[in-house]
Amino acid sequence: MHFKVSEIVAALNAPAVPKKFADNEVDSVSFDTREIKPGALFVPLIGERDGHDFVPAAITAGATATFWQKDHTVDIPTDIAVIIVDDPLQAMWQLAQHYLRKINPKVVAVTGSNGKTTTKDMIATILATQYNVAKTYANYNNEIGLPFTILNAPTNTEVLVLEMGMDRPGQISHMTQLARPDVAVITMIGEAHIEFFGTRDKIADAKMEIVQGLSADGTFVFNGDEPLLQERAAKVTQKQKTFGTQSTDDLYPVSVSAGTHHTTFVTNKWADVTFTIPMMGEYNVQNALAAIQAARVFHVLPEKCAQALRKFVPTKNRAQWLEGDAGEQILSDVYNSNPTAVREVLHDFVQVPTDGQRIIVLGDMLELGDQSAQLHASLATDIDPAKIAQVFLYGHDIKSLADALSEKYPTTALHYYPVGDQTTLIHDLQNTAHSSDLVLLKGSHGMHLENVLARLM
Ligand code: ATP
Ligand code: MG
Repeated sequence: MHFKVSEIVAALNAPAVPKKFADNEVDSVSFDTREIKPGALFVPLIGERDGHDFVPAAITAGATATFWQKDHTVDIPTDIAVIIVDDPLQAMWQLAQHYLRKINPKVVAVTGSNGKTTTKDMIATILATQYNVAKTYANYNNEIGLPFTILNAPTNTEVLVLEMGMDRPGQISHMTQLARPDVAVITMIGEAHIEFFGTRDKIADAKMEIVQGLSADGTFVFNGDEPLLQERAAKVTQKQKTFGTQSTDDLYPVSVSAGTHHTTFVTNKWADVTFTIPMMGEYNVQNALAAIQAARVFHVLPEKCAQALRKFVPTKNRAQWLEGDAGEQILSDVYNSNPTAVREVLHDFVQVPTDGQRIIVLGDMLELGDQSAQLHASLATDIDPAKIAQVFLYGHDIKSLADALSEKYPTTALHYYPVGDQTTLIHDLQNTAHSSDLVLLKGSHGMHLENVLARLM
């Protein structure tokens, strides 16, 4: 972004700042003084701590202006442009809206239970071959990350790719009304955050809110394999494009060849274009198809999409192969977990050939509410002793899966508890995993399986 302070004041209808500050220029926004750049507008957010306490640090770091919540009447700094607002976060939204209107980029919005970041990054990678693209930084997909991303987009941005996450109804609605996307993407419907929603139906309703902001001539891209989305899409009046695995979808793979580090596929639409993504997992083929469908709206040729995807740099900490101390190959996917994601990764993991044994280490999947025990236990049908030799389960709620597996694995499905004590788990794993074995590590971030990973390496 690029604003004079006086322009921000006018856009927000805020009280005038002293004349000497009115011409101060700001070209970034930050709410974290550790990441602030000179020339930034600081936004003091109120969370566990009050961001206003950090304004002096923001000034030291080179901030040229700061928002200031109107009811904070003490210690108002005088050595920086102070823009008085009712609520700093709200003001950031308002300014983001003003800025979006000013630079008027095309907008792609991505939501879904899983695969948002991967799909967002793939879309941005493809579109960057033809346009000036800005995208959601890392996983900044909430109500703070959205205006943050918009405001930090360069003024020459032609396409803005935004990830939208949620754990409550209404959040996506709010975000899409700000972003007014030209393309709205729903990757898939899973069980993530079912604790707050109760049913997959309600999750689908909340994800569908993304269409509320979709421009009248926009395009809705969604997973056509999902009946909950098909049903709801019937009421959408904008153009639609689906992707999936079935011949009823607009775009689907007709052949997939899976490797540990690459996946290659050909689609129904362009028989002469071979797509390769530097990632494992058929679910990532789905993410790539979603990205291609979105990019096609902007007239990127299929060959160009393929070229860009070949060079795609996968997001860190998602399904990475690493080598352990004993020479075992570890598929680390410790960043997040939920039932659909575990099923997807298991499906791919058991197809990786090995002379050794396959070992899986699963941690609790969090935020599943009162369906947690049942959803954990439901994974038992996906775990096949003919393909997976050893099962290590770590956590509280995952006991139901240990129980459900007790017949299939009378001696080798081990349950580790309490949470926080990984010593025995690590010890047993170190004694079990040998060279040429394959080890899968997956659990919710809060289970900290990255510590187990660190000890194996
Ligand atoms: P978050 O909610 O944390 O932002 P996200 O939706 O951005 O997650 P990614 O970060 O792209 O998702 O992927 C996270 C994990 O979700 C992957 O490591 C994988 O296990 C699973 N996953 C990714 N894409 C899909 C998909 N299309 N279908 C099912 N599972 C997927
Ligand atoms: Mg994400």
